[in-house]
Amino acid sequence: MKNGWSDKEAKKYIGRYGRDGVGKDLALRVYTSRLLGLEPRLVLHGGGNTSVKTRMVDVQGNRTDVLCVKGSGWDMGDIEPAGLPAVRLENLCELIALDRLSDEDMVNAQRANLLDSTSPNPSVETLLHAFLPHKFIDHTHSNAVLSLTDQPDGDALCRKVYGKSMGYVPYIMPGFALAKKAVEVFRQDPTVEGLILFKHGIFTFGDTAKQAYTRMIDKVTLAEKRLKKGKKRVFVGAKLPKRTATAAQVAPILRGLVALPGSSEGSYKRMVMDFRTSKTVRAFVDGKDVKRYSQQGTATPDHVIRTKQKPLIVPAPVADDLDGFARGAARALKAYQKSYHAYFERQNKRQETPKTELDAMPRLILVPGLGLFGLGANAKAAGIAADLGETNVMVITGAESMSSYKVIGERDCFDLEYWSLEQAKLGKGAEKPLARQVAVVTGGGSGIGAATAQAFAAVGCEVAVLDRDIKAAKTVADSFGGLAIACDVTNARSINAALDKVAATYGGVDIVVSNAGAAWQGRIGDVSDKVLRQSFELNFWGHQNVAKKATQIMRAQGTGGCLLFNTSKQAINPGPDFGPYGLPKAATLFLMRQYAVDHGSDGIRSNAVNADRIRSNLLTNDMIASRSKARGLTEKDYLSGNLLGREVTAEDVANCFVDLACAEKTTASVATVDGGNIAAALR
Ligand code: ZN
Repeated sequence: MKNGWSDKEAKKYIGRYGRDGVGKDLALRVYTSRLLGLEPRLVLHGGGNTSVKTRMVDVQGNRTDVLCVKGSGWDMGDIEPAGLPAVRLENLCELIALDRLSDEDMVNAQRANLLDSTSPNPSVETLLHAFLPHKFIDHTHSNAVLSLTDQPDGDALCRKVYGKSMGYVPYIMPGFALAKKAVEVFRQDPTVEGLILFKHGIFTFGDTAKQAYTRMIDKVTLAEKRLKKGKKRVFVGAKLPKRTATAAQVAPILRGLVALPGSSEGSYKRMVMDFRTSKTVRAFVDGKDVKRYSQQGTATPDHVIRTKQKPLIVPAPVADDLDGFARGAARALKAYQKSYHAYFERQNKRQETPKTELDAMPRLILVPGLGLFGLGANAKAAGIAADLGETNVMVITGAESMSSYKVIGERDCFDLEYWSLEQAKLGKGAEKPLARQVAVVTGGGSGIGAATAQAFAAVGCEVAVLDRDIKAAKTVADSFGGLAIACDVTNARSINAALDKVAATYGGVDIVVSNAGAAWQGRIGDVSDKVLRQSFELNFWGHQNVAKKATQIMRAQGTGGCLLFNTSKQAINPGPDFGPYGLPKAATLFLMRQYAVDHGSDGIRSNAVNADRIRSNLLTNDMIASRSKARGLTEKDYLSGNLLGREVTAEDVANCFVDLACAEKTTASVATVDGGNIAAALR
């Protein structure tokens, strides 16, 4: 592993943070924490921690010895001084005299000794950092080190690789007991440069930030070198179907299976998914023995809160037999849940205070012939699960290249999974109204579409913005971290590919706002067939193309769905010379009703919004100017020429789409967003 230390960079950190009054020690602590945190082979998503012992001035002006240690909720890759809260060191060190210390008392003691009471909770490994005497201490869950320790003879193997340069700590759950054991090991030979924590990770120490960091890189490199001597072809492949279904075909089936019933009939607590594949992942999931090596447990214990102890393995999906795949996957999931429940029952029996069982759904799914899926409450959580899944693949592959993969047993795993301090890392709090759902907005690059995409993101959806203009789509999607896809809705192939991409990215589709449209004008007796047909292509067929494909994905999920059409007041109230626009929109209004009729039994709702007089790409500034002039009105009076006398905005339409998506018992309905236009009212 490359050593990323640079004297020049280090100086920059000292200078930059020095201007904010941050001392040199803490500035360098931030620098090397980031160096470690930016290397995914060392730590991922809040894993690992670092500390520095330094002095700070307290409120009474006294210089005090403190431990600045990584705070909970911070990621080392982008940590700031605020992410390394200062704790009074002397008071922490006195705790070593105790024989026992409960988790609650430990957390309380750590918080009570914070210099700044607004700081985040210091890491659960704080006492380990405090009890050791070294100025700088680095801790990672290095893949290479885990590949060595996560073997049946990992203990002997590490001793051979590191000899006397490291201390060796048996597996103990993080907290007070581990901190005491680590110090005990260190005191047996205070010349060690660090500690190997079996089935957990590695610590290195130093008098300087550079020394502790360099030792980390050197020790990890030794492990990498040892692993290189292992087998090159690690796994024997299983027999796979000649042709495998695609991730886009498989994802909605799996996503439907892992959805839990929601609070009301017909509602669901869904998962968002994240698909990963690579040569390494494929070799792993395609292996003949995948059921053995993938079911041992996580590479390092704290992964368990995000991935569960075991991934679900489903059958290899044969192309053209998705029904067969769905049946096989459902059977596999049932067995998985039964096994999770049994594990909980077994382990819960020995608890002093019984725990509440967490959901029995997997957070990782291995699909032979394809790759792996990470699952979570949103795209971010699914991405974290997938990252950890890939990391586990690498660690297990390394271990299996030498002998076999072996980690802590289910007893220790359970203690971690149901440990209140670990569950606290996930955070709780109410979910947004449309959380866990995937929404697609066509014509989402501007106007009503852009406002709608933003509105759905704001209520918790993962949103894909489809537009012919990919740049416009990207600008909108980037504003909330969504997905942008170039798409021409008049081309069925283009829309099918776009929705497949959404399914492969998030696992499926729950809500579609079919919004793309454009206005064509012409007196109906004069207008050319070409213009009329062109308008039908976009204003009718565009809607049918997207609704048809979305319905297929929704039915594969089996968790209902929501179709929303932008139909415009023209659908029921024809304006002069607007036949080419109004006719296909009227057909689309019926299309909406037809979907409600034909797919209500699939739980798919279908609704429309009729909007009018909204400044957009349909009603351009030029058109507004000429129309208001023709009527002798100001632009403002023209736009607010409705019963309420108020101008209607794209955001108003967007909010109505969201309302309809939330209205779980409403289908075949048209909502007007026009400030009141009695001629366009449905009767
Ligand atoms: Zn750790």
